Amino acid sequence: MIYVKRIECPEVLDLNVPESIASKEFQEVIEYFKDKDRDFKFKAYGKGNVKEKLAEMFNNKCAYCESKISPVSYGDIEHFRPKTAYHSKEGEVLTYPGYYWLAMDWNNLLLACEVCNRTFKKNKFPLVDENMRGKRHNSGVVEDAILIDPCNEDLDPQESIYFTEEGIVKYKDGEGNKGDRSIQIYGLYNPRLTDNRKTLAKELEDKKTQILGYIETISTLTSFPNLELLKEVIEINLRDLETVYISLKNSNLPSAPYLGMVRNLTSDFLGNYSSDIEELLSQYNVLTSKE
Ligand SMILES: [Zn+2]
Repeated sequence: MIYVKRIECPEVLDLNVPESIASKEFQEVIEYFKDKDRDFKFKAYGKGNVKEKLAEMFNNKCAYCESKISPVSYGDIEHFRPKTAYHSKEGEVLTYPGYYWLAMDWNNLLLACEVCNRTFKKNKFPLVDENMRGKRHNSGVVEDAILIDPCNEDLDPQESIYFTEEGIVKYKDGEGNKGDRSIQIYGLYNPRLTDNRKTLAKELEDKKTQILGYIETISTLTSFPNLELLKEVIEINLRDLETVYISLKNSNLPSAPYLGMVRNLTSDFLGNYSSDIEELLSQYNVLTSKE
């Protein structure tokens, strides 16, 4: 899980425009929930290009587990604060209504995979203090959510969770706190997900090992006096180094899966070696441009 900066609200959900689909639905729910607590058919959040905008914002990855959504599934528009009903944990009775006034609020929407959304998170929304829960649109309560909101610019998820070289997710901020509860409620520990991360973690380790091997070989070769004879083999090693180095850097692109883990496992390495590698590669460019 990583911090994702929220992009501009799609037109259909612009609550500053009184005629927008979201504004109209907002007015409807305020009326509806005056004397009812369930069975409203929320529609605005699924209109227009909302899902495309979420896919763009999250680079087509689940906001919680960072698995790629497509091509194998469609993904869900997920309400961080549940729209219909909520409880703080599995097995607890659901409370109605949910956060009906946020059902069409762009700032409450995320893109999630079916597994995170439908098997794990579902209607759970625990708070640090249950007495401080906003139960109506006008309650004016400032809630302290236990769950990590990936779009909260004040709390980078990576301050609460981290990943080991085996792809295992762990909390940083103590048992029962945001990291721990988010791992449990979003199902970030789920074995299939962990297996995927483990495979990627192994690939990253292999790439780091290969890069160190190439650097060592190149520095040994370039220490020999007659460089002209070794030029070809040095070039081969430099080219291979470049391929693996670019591939390791590409694992850090915003669109790459499990970026939270990738950052944990590669940022020190790239910080330590990038400038050396790039210097070596610029020598390679010098060598080839001479031809
Ligand atoms: Zn997911």
